[in-house]
Amino acid sequence: MKCALVTGGSRGIGRAICYKMAQMGYYVLINYKSNQGEADKTLAQIKQDGGDGELLKFDVADKVDIQQVLNGWIEANTEKYVEILINNAGVKDDVLLMWMKDEQWDNVIKTSLDGFFYVTRLLINDMLVRRYGRIVNVVSLSGLKGLPGQINYSAAKAGVIGATKALAQEVGRRGITVNAVAPGFIKTDMTEGLDEKSLKAMIPVHRFGTPEEVAHAVGFLASAEAAYITGEVLSINGGLYS
Ligand code: NAP
Repeated sequence: MKCALVTGGSRGIGRAICYKMAQMGYYVLINYKSNQGEADKTLAQIKQDGGDGELLKFDVADKVDIQQVLNGWIEANTEKYVEILINNAGVKDDVLLMWMKDEQWDNVIKTSLDGFFYVTRLLINDMLVRRYGRIVNVVSLSGLKGLPGQINYSAAKAGVIGATKALAQEVGRRGITVNAVAPGFIKTDMTEGLDEKSLKAMIPVHRFGTPEEVAHAVGFLASAEAAYITGEVLSINGGLYS
């Protein structure tokens, strides 16, 4: 059975990606950190629409948790194979560098960058053996441009962009593509406190994007037909920056 693992699939962009993966016929592994109620809703909607999947609770910032839960799942499910990996889980914790605490730096870097590394390293071997795989990393405009007040987040996402380009070259010969999508302002819990009215004036398309618009691009990069696109970063930002 072919599976798609979506980290941070309980809410926001990750949830929309889970729906997209289910529409593409994948059995969806919905990862989340703590919000079981929202993760349950994602799975219930997938089932209601005729798809299937299961929840996989682990903290992508914790390599021991990843090893225990994700590796445990792999060992217990030899008939299932993760063909698509979407590294989507991410957090932001904004403050100017001079006031940034150790924990704010560590948590944001660990969630995006360490999460990418430890989850991908566990799954890449099977993809290499089967000579097929799709990896899509959800990065950010912040990682391309750098945004003040977000040096932890910009650094984490820029790190994942570099890793995307490097890994694409390591595994291209084995039928595995590695790409990233870089959203701008997307309507989710992460952007809830922002002043949309004033910010949208800067965006050529003049609105925030939707999780479904990001999921559409992820679905394209994760499709078999996108086999000749790898090491790319696709901006989804309404024309804000590229
Ligand atoms: P969100 O609504 O805040 O949802 C975050 C998701 O990530 C939740 O499912 C959460 O799980 C999960 N998560 C957070 N930390 C985790 C951890 N340590 N381990 C496992 N799961 C974890 O965020 P979003 O806006 O959908 O963002 C999704 C991705 O897009 C992130 O990587 C973010 O940086 C990126 N992005 C977002 C925007 C935007 O405008 N929204 C723009 C650019 C990039 P729980 O529900 O269990 O907490």
